[in-house]
Parts: sequence; C-alpha cells; structure tokens
Amino acid sequence: MYNDEMLIAGLQELSIPYDADKLDKLHKYYEMMVEKNKVMNLTSITEYEDVVVKHWLDSLCFAKIYLKKASDASGKVMSKDSGEESVSRSIRLIDIGTGAGFPGIPIKIFFPEIEVTLLDSLNKRIVFLQDVVNQLGLNTISCIHGRAEEFSNKAEYRERYDYAVSRAVARLASLSELCIPFVKVGGYFLPYKSEGAAEEIDESRFAIKALGGKIERILDYQIPTSELPRKLVVVNKVAACSPKYPRGGGKPMKAPLLSK
Ligand code: SAM
Repeated sequence: MYNDEMLIAGLQELSIPYDADKLDKLHKYYEMMVEKNKVMNLTSITEYEDVVVKHWLDSLCFAKIYLKKASDASGKVMSKDSGEESVSRSIRLIDIGTGAGFPGIPIKIFFPEIEVTLLDSLNKRIVFLQDVVNQLGLNTISCIHGRAEEFSNKAEYRERYDYAVSRAVARLASLSELCIPFVKVGGYFLPYKSEGAAEEIDESRFAIKALGGKIERILDYQIPTSELPRKLVVVNKVAACSPKYPRGGGKPMKAPLLSK
C-alpha cells in the first residue's frame, strides 16, 4: 500500500539499518498522525511522500552525528582481553518541543537502543505521543508534559542526557538556554536548523558559551532524496552549566542571552 522506495533510498544514504518491522511502525505512526490531525493541529505536512522526506528523513539526519560518535566510542572501549571490563551503558536523548514526535520518534524507531524522552509543553500532543508509543510497542521512551526551562532544573533531568535534539522550536540563542542544561558534560546539543540560519547561529555564540557549550561544527547538507538544504549545529557540552541557567520568568524567550 505504501511506496517506500524513497524512504529506503534515504535510509541507505544515511547508512541506517532497517527491516520490515521498522517500516511497519512508521506506517502505523503515519496513519495515527493523519487521523489525529483531523481533530488537532499536529502538522501541516500530510502527503505520504512529503512526510517521508520533510519529517522522517529530516529527523533521521541525526544519524550523521550519532553513527560517527557511536563508532568512535566503540573503538575506544577496551575489551576484556586487554584487561579492562567493557562497560555498556545506555545512550540517553531528549527531544525538546517534540510536537508530533519529531525528531524523537523516528530516532527511537531506528535506534531502539537509545533511551528517549519526548518533552512538550502542550499536553494534547503528549497524550497523542503516549498513544503512539503504546500502539507501536516502543520501549524505554517517556512522554513528558512540561516546559523545558522548568524540567531542566529537576535533578533527574539536569545534565543527564548524551543528546538534546530540537527542531522548529525557537531561535538558537533562546533554544540553547532551553536545551543545553539537559546535556551532560561531554554530550551534544543538536539543533536542526534551516539553510538561512547563519545569522541566527552567529547571534547564539555568546549564549552557547555562557551555558557551557562549544560549537564543534555546523553540518550543511540536503535531506536525503531531496534538494532541501538544512543545517545541523553540533554543540559539544564542554563545561557544567551554571545553576543560574535557565533563567525564570520567560527570560530565555523574552531576553535571550546576547553579547552586549
Ligand atoms: N519539533 C517538532 C517538529 O519539528 O515538527 C514540533 C515543532 S512545533 C513548531 C514547536 C513545539 O515546541 C510545540 O509543540 C510547542 O508546544 C513546543 N514548545 C514550545 N516551547 C516549549 C517549551 N518551553 N518547552 C517545551 N516545549 C515547548
């Protein structure tokens, strides 16, 4: 019923392993999203081919960073033969302002080993996502209703994640204050941005540094199977975040950290 030629070409381009079960999960997710979209605002993109490219393959560009970091890390793990216990611990990722589940749900489907938290301030979307998680039988994933700037002050969320991802939520200087406090030192904040974000990225350098981050690089690419240009900013958390961040009273949005 679904033509997955483009999806499979995109997955292959990203070197993401797939099987029939993962594709079935995406189909079910698509059906649930389109159905729910009739009664609440989840997405303006509903044609299957558009969803494949603009939601799924875009979300899965996370693989450009994750697969590289995972292979670097496994190269560094010492085996028992070399006299060291090999330690395997789960990778934790939070998707801030996940909306209809992007990029967090496609990441969870294709990288089930990652423990995922989906966070959104609109409860209706979180109720929808919990239903998706149940229907798809996804494990080690939690759907949380709340504001990023409140949750990152809680001990069980603060500096506890290897990756914080976020797409289409706020300008980068504001978004950095919402996201970087969740990331553990050594982890990564990966904001998905559009082609025209160069100025916004420049404007965010002061905030990123103040929050303990460092821009490692900016990845420019086209979403696989398309000519749609995107940027993924790779922010490494190099120092602990001062307890004064995030600031209260809506300041991250109203008065972003910008150099004077
Ligand atoms: N990330 C999704 C995507 O790319 O399709 C959704 C983007 S949608 C435009 C922005 C989402 O961010 C909304 O669902 C909104 O409720 C959520 N949001 C905005 N500010 C937030 C905050 N401070 N904390 C948590 N979620 C927030």
